Amino acid sequence: MSQIDYSLSGYERPKLQTPNGETKLLMHSCCAPCAGEIMEALAASEIDTTVFFYNPNIHPQEEYELRKEENIRFAEKLGMPFIDADYNKDDWFARIKGQEDEPERGARCTTCFDMRFEVTAAYAKAHGFDLISSTLGISRWKDMNQINGCGMRAADVFDGITYWDFNWRKQGGSARMLELSKQEEFYQQEYCGCVYSLRDTNKWRVSRGREKVERGVKFYAEAMQSLSNTSNK
Ligand code: SF4
Repeated sequence: MSQIDYSLSGYERPKLQTPNGETKLLMHSCCAPCAGEIMEALAASEIDTTVFFYNPNIHPQEEYELRKEENIRFAEKLGMPFIDADYNKDDWFARIKGQEDEPERGARCTTCFDMRFEVTAAYAKAHGFDLISSTLGISRWKDMNQINGCGMRAADVFDGITYWDFNWRKQGGSARMLELSKQEEFYQQEYCGCVYSLRDTNKWRVSRGREKVERGVKFYAEAMQSLSNTSNK
């Protein structure tokens, strides 16, 4: 029995179809490492895709700018339209108030996903898109059901907007995500994004005798050896 080659160079990408023949996809993106493989898959499928970078959760602003610039760099390489949305971090903090001590994948993250999807869906409705999705779900650190629930809830508010719950991890997607990140030498963030995830990652590291996160210095090409232990993407 022949084995499928899922590697970046060997994988014969299937032509993906949108769920109901939708023609314009607004793809919410959280960062270049998660988005890269998905953007490649969509480009290969000739699905009309625009990347929507809306992440007011990312803290501090230098980290936000770095993650965004990495994503812009790859969008330009593929010739894929990129929307640089608002960094309304004060609204994010106001919305999260009272959930600061929730663990990752808990209620705070639902609030955070809801906010990002609501803005994505509203933008899609206002600008002629009929389909939304997100790169968030490709990360093994995330709860895909939690993300999909938030995406569907946001899309349901608007007539003519569908949420696409495609599982980007399958058919070698997770492995190619890492391979592509290395190939493109993407910035390798080591915490989910918000100040609370940075706090908790540092607490966890210190409790194990490790150094705290050093932001802005790690890029995938240099860091592949320790990916399985340290990456938060
Ligand atoms: S841990 Fe990540 S998903 Fe959860 S609230 Fe923070 S930034 Fe948002």
